[in-house]
Amino acid sequence: DNDQPRKPSWIRVKAPTSEGYKETRDIIRGQKLATVCEEAGCPNVGECWGQGHATMMIMGEICTRGCTFCNVATGKPQALDAFEPGRVAHAVSQLGLKHVVVTSVDRDDLEDGGAEHFAQTIRAIRHRAQGTTVEVLVPDFLKCGPEALETVVAARPDVFNHNLETVPGLYPEVRPGARYFHSLRLLQRAKELDPQIFTKSGIMVGLGEDRQGVMQVMDDMRAAGVDFLTIGQYLQPTPKHHRVDRFVTPEEFASYEKAAYGKGFLMVSATPLTRSSYHAGEDFARLRAA
Ligand code: SF4
Ligand code: SF4
Repeated sequence: DNDQPRKPSWIRVKAPTSEGYKETRDIIRGQKLATVCEEAGCPNVGECWGQGHATMMIMGEICTRGCTFCNVATGKPQALDAFEPGRVAHAVSQLGLKHVVVTSVDRDDLEDGGAEHFAQTIRAIRHRAQGTTVEVLVPDFLKCGPEALETVVAARPDVFNHNLETVPGLYPEVRPGARYFHSLRLLQRAKELDPQIFTKSGIMVGLGEDRQGVMQVMDDMRAAGVDFLTIGQYLQPTPKHHRVDRFVTPEEFASYEKAAYGKGFLMVSATPLTRSSYHAGEDFARLRAA
């Protein structure tokens, strides 16, 4: 696809070379864990891993969905590994994380969508790394009953994150297999089930949405009680993926951030390289100290 807009100067990715990066990599490899940092080809990996922050991806590296922005392979997933929650917890303690983000592929093949595995992972981290706050970034549990969400919430993560990813009008081409209002309702139900858990969601921009659409998504999120918001520039992982419609300027990001605080979000990250888990720990610590 050669009608892509050129990458602007503000999209700069530092090569991962630091000692901290290597230490993080060795711990992740040592525990045989997957990270979304690597699977998604995240541009922040040098910076985040340099500081020991990694986002764990549980339940395998093969997803049952095929979102057109996502670099994770689609296919028949591996069997669940009962020892994985323990290895995640071990890595969290080795990395000395104050805050960890745990996410997964979508597991439409499992009756509970992997909810119990998430819950076990949260409990394992609580047991092994007591001071660490836990954020889960969950799939939509579209094919499951209400118990799936209840199982995750009952394990009491500090932050419950589920990304809407884009405006509803772009779902058919960006997130086929997902439903905008189902995802919104998931966030709302998580809040209703346990109002003490912070809820969080995010979108990518530059996929073809307009400003009005982004404002509407923010309003929908706030109506569902969502506390934290992330907005980042979509980058095309390979030429086979959804094209970049445009690069949103840093000024536009700043204006989204301002608008979002005006709508009542407690914490907002809106910059070109913001990702769902970018600076999640520092932001959360700052909020708790405030
Ligand atoms: Fe990993 Fe998130 Fe940092 Fe990207 S922003 S490198 S996914 S922790
Ligand atoms: Fe990627 Fe998640 Fe979509 Fe699977 S459900 S393709 S992991 S974004």
